[in-house]
Amino acid sequence: MKVIETIDDMRQLRLKLTEPVGFVPTMGYLHEGHLSLVRKARAVNQSVVVSIFVNPTQFGPREDFSQYPRNPERDLALLEKEKTDIVFTPSVAEMYPDQFDSWVEVGRLAQRLEGACRPGHFRGVTTVVAKLFNIIQPTGAYFGQKDAQQVVVIKKMVADLNMNVEVVAVPTVREPDGLAMSSRNTYLNPEQRRAATVLYQALSLAQKLWTQGETDAGKLRRQMVDLIRGEPLATIDYVSIANAETLDELDRVSPPALVSLAVRIGKTRLIDNGVLQ
Ligand code: AMP
Repeated sequence: MKVIETIDDMRQLRLKLTEPVGFVPTMGYLHEGHLSLVRKARAVNQSVVVSIFVNPTQFGPREDFSQYPRNPERDLALLEKEKTDIVFTPSVAEMYPDQFDSWVEVGRLAQRLEGACRPGHFRGVTTVVAKLFNIIQPTGAYFGQKDAQQVVVIKKMVADLNMNVEVVAVPTVREPDGLAMSSRNTYLNPEQRRAATVLYQALSLAQKLWTQGETDAGKLRRQMVDLIRGEPLATIDYVSIANAETLDELDRVSPPALVSLAVRIGKTRLIDNGVLQ
């Protein structure tokens, strides 16, 4: 496994990789969710590249960029075990030199849900992913369904800008009690960690009611909101039931519908989602 820090070195090495090349972009502090993407990439490609880059442009001014957890040594050991060929770990200055001033922005799909709560977030995501695609030129890129809107937005960018990459979504990996794995779970103290299961409980409730025949999206949202309000440590940012492709909010559920939510537990903002099929 080679660890590469500069764009020039990455380009040089890329020329020698055997096709197809699978790529997994991450911000590090790896957990089983990230590793499931790497395993998927490993299973269907001859070469696997993983990037670790905490991308400053996708964090808002009052968000957790400087506190975001980092553990590069541990990450590299985990990636070595998964038979990663190349880990690309550029510095912020390497990716965003002083005069950097070009942006990739998806329209409507990036403005709702996470985009509405975190202005500029997706502009940062699509810009860095476009840069990484240009540098690494992967055959396929692997993203977690955990960040469902991110998958939709990146697929839109790839289609609209004719990028030659297959975007693959990989199922969410959860803790035994249902909490979606996330690097940010490390912010939770034991009491908050217990409270954080409310996200999965709300998703499970929506799934159960839908299976029982409830198609009124308003009723499903209300039931989810009521359940979350029963948890004193939780504050809702949004609870959404939307068309899984357009992200338009639904009155009547018609499958596939994306049920997604953002909830703050103390200062930690968690997101999760499920699909009603
Ligand atoms: P991040 O390091 O948070 O930017 O995540 C890197 C990639 O891992 C993204 O495509 C995420 O959607 C994905 N990911 C994060 N958590 C999970 C999870 N629990 N299950 C599956 N994929 C995940």
